[in-house]
Amino acid sequence: MIITDTHTHLYSEEFDQDRDTMIKRAINAGVSRFFIPAIDSTCTESMYELEKNYPENVFLMMGLHPTYVKENYLEELQHVENELQKRKFYAIGEIGIDLYWDKTHLQEQQIAFTTQIRLAKKYKLPIVIHCRDAFDEIFQILENEKSADLFGIFHCFTGTHEQALRAISYNMKLGIGGVVTFKNGKIDQFLNQIDLKHIVLETDSPYLAPIPHRGKRNESSYTLAVAEKVAQIYNLSIPEIAAITTANSQAIFGI
Ligand SMILES: [Zn+2]
Repeated sequence: MIITDTHTHLYSEEFDQDRDTMIKRAINAGVSRFFIPAIDSTCTESMYELEKNYPENVFLMMGLHPTYVKENYLEELQHVENELQKRKFYAIGEIGIDLYWDKTHLQEQQIAFTTQIRLAKKYKLPIVIHCRDAFDEIFQILENEKSADLFGIFHCFTGTHEQALRAISYNMKLGIGGVVTFKNGKIDQFLNQIDLKHIVLETDSPYLAPIPHRGKRNESSYTLAVAEKVAQIYNLSIPEIAAITTANSQAIFGI
């Protein structure tokens, strides 16, 4: 069984004490493919280090996270483009709009999102979208930028059924993580009406741990708990969910 964690921040300092043990625990649980979203230029070196240590398992993205769009965002976008020119990445991510913490840089976030969507088209890569309190703003940009060559993942999808269908209409798969196991998570109410071909699994570790680990540090081995819940929702076995969602991740990332 091969389970793919399509969104995991394995380089996070939260794993500094036990990174190798944690990664081995995931691999032993069947979670052996890790897609690593970037945040900003400060995490680039640790991402490369991770890839060097786990070349068979770790696949890197490049991008500027919306929460890190600040006064220096143009320099950060230049860093993204420089790295893209240098070497292979599997997606532009994570990118998008986050209005939960701070609305000050909405305009800069919109520019950064649009710029990075265009980079994705230029490099023929998928995008991995981070959306928090910003469905309208994100959909507006996707509406403007939509095209046959724009595709990707709506990471940590927490919207309504209608928003799910709209995301899918823009060639986006839904990244399903720990929230699906929460009692108030809501997406479990309609997920079985979404064709499994649109679903990929993720943890977003170290954040958003699934039940029974809710509130604690999340890690990639817990993708199994997400797979278990998704298997219940679709009335399939965990190996079937693993096979389908891993194939979906291969279709997106090209590996
Ligand atoms: Zn993330």
